[in-house]
Amino acid sequence: MNKIKDYTIDELKEEMTKLGEKPFRATQIWEWIYKENVASFDEMTNLSIELRNKLKDNYEIGTYKIIRKLESKDGTKKFLFDILDGNAIETVLMDYKFGKSICVSTQVGCKMGCKFCASTGIDFVRSLSSGEIVEQILAVQREEHVKVSNVVYMGIGEPLDNYDNVVKSLKILNDPKGLNIGARHISISTSGLVPKIKKLADEKLQCTLSISLHATTNEKRSEMMPVNKAYPIEELIDACKYYIEKTGRRISFEYALAKDNNDNLDDAKRLVKLLKGMVAHVNLIPINKIENGKYIKSTNENILKFRDFLNENGIVATVRRELGSDIDAACGQLRRKNLEE
Ligand code: SAH
Repeated sequence: MNKIKDYTIDELKEEMTKLGEKPFRATQIWEWIYKENVASFDEMTNLSIELRNKLKDNYEIGTYKIIRKLESKDGTKKFLFDILDGNAIETVLMDYKFGKSICVSTQVGCKMGCKFCASTGIDFVRSLSSGEIVEQILAVQREEHVKVSNVVYMGIGEPLDNYDNVVKSLKILNDPKGLNIGARHISISTSGLVPKIKKLADEKLQCTLSISLHATTNEKRSEMMPVNKAYPIEELIDACKYYIEKTGRRISFEYALAKDNNDNLDDAKRLVKLLKGMVAHVNLIPINKIENGKYIKSTNENILKFRDFLNENGIVATVRRELGSDIDAACGQLRRKNLEE
């Protein structure tokens, strides 16, 4: 059955016409879903019982069930959702000074195979639909009674490997009749699918692009991230420049520091060279060691040296705060554990 949250408001108007209803019913339904955040069609009390039944016969509302909820000492909350087809996905809610930020998954599993990531080694199942991406935010807001102000597409999966659904979900988040979250408050993170980065640039959305860079030579990056063999660093940087040119937005580069791997001064020097002149920001992340993983966290001393070198050489760099480390909040760890159990 079709999922009602997969439709933009214009598409839902067409659906209503097909069902022999007036198009404005779509607006009412959207209000119930995105403003009132109801969990069932029965709660849409300004619709006739007849119409509610029609909706139930034709669409799924797709309300997630919570399998597990973990709370960190720092306020970070992690949810494992039952997405109603036997699969489970992870969503993380983070508490920042500027508001509530949510990290959404875009696929059940991931095909990218990054060596340091907890999703590697467990099977890729499928991509999420746009409604299934959006429901993560709705489900968290319903449970926590909060309004999310920022969304990062940084959970499980490669967003640009699920391009159409991700872009559609973004438009639904953006819609003033929907969740009304501005594009500037939304970040998409990618391992570097060059053609899709260019395609995204051409959409001229105002969202922030995060690039998971993690290394400064093709040899090292290919070893950490197999996707680099298809799209090497030079092509990736060119695509980033294109994105900046088309959107006027700066790019965020993610760089996870692993001891004796990518954290020495030569790496920092090459990074400066690569990013010189770009409107960019570097997010340094102390790498999170995964079970049986070969990469371990850099020392604090090295992390700060690395950061200072970048800053002294004209590249804005900050060290990402490690939120939720006591609850396995890092990429894919909870889903992995659940599968193992
Ligand atoms: N596939 C997308 C988004 C999901 S991963 C991407 O690659 O960007 C989200 C971020 O977490 C990426 O920057 C990824 O490189 C990083 N990441 C994954 N595993 C990590 C780990 N063990 N330690 C630190 N960062 C990690």
